[in-house]
Amino acid sequence: MIRAIDLSYAYPGGELLHFPPVALEPGQSLVLRGNSGSGKSTWLALVAGLLTASQGELCVAGQDLSALSASARDGWRARTIGFLPQKLHLSAALTVAENLALVHFAAGVPTDRAAIGRSLAALGVADLAHRRPSQLSGGQAQRVALARAVLLQPKVILADEPTASLDDAAAAAALGLLTSTAAELGATLVIATHDARVTQALPSSIQCFIGSIGNTSKIL
Ligand code: ADP
Ligand code: MG
Repeated sequence: MIRAIDLSYAYPGGELLHFPPVALEPGQSLVLRGNSGSGKSTWLALVAGLLTASQGELCVAGQDLSALSASARDGWRARTIGFLPQKLHLSAALTVAENLALVHFAAGVPTDRAAIGRSLAALGVADLAHRRPSQLSGGQAQRVALARAVLLQPKVILADEPTASLDDAAAAAALGLLTSTAAELGATLVIATHDARVTQALPSSIQCFIGSIGNTSKIL
């Protein structure tokens, strides 16, 4: 479901980041650990097809990403990847339901209000559909962002630092939601984090550490 071998990436003018090999089957989960700046968010962006690898082999949900054009990759991402970004990027001008409808727009499919309602209900926030993001608590906003991420029933869920700045109880709740949502969809789940609580909370997950030596990551 995710196969990433000999993957590396360099931002323009930056040093080459090397990533450890990852092979995940459908339904498996991975905790991608590493210090700040080690390349976790970059790896998620590569797997989501938001960045193109400098070298290496990357196959996600049966698709070799190097074989897709940039525009084909956008449609593929909308259909395949559920992304829970660290900054939630909910549009302040839109209601919660309208924010989810943007997913349908991005995927080039008609707005499906029933599906939006189901996704919000599954995350326990159906009653917030008509609120603006500014009227949500942090935890509610994260649930809405997760409802948006899984609206199209993605095969792969990527979560970037989902427990950052959450207290223990809220962090446990967020991880519980992520794992139960992924299990319901049979999706592969990747959580990128520098938070040791995630490793403790998900003992059956595959653990992978991006270690940083200078600016170069390697397997530890
Ligand atoms: P992490 O998520 O583990 O904190 P990142 O993937 O965000 O790490 O960053 C990895 C490295 O790439 C860091 O050295 C960071 O400064 C650099 N980097 C991240 N984003 C950019 C960017 N847009 N342009 C240039 N360098 C970047
Ligand atoms: Mg990051």
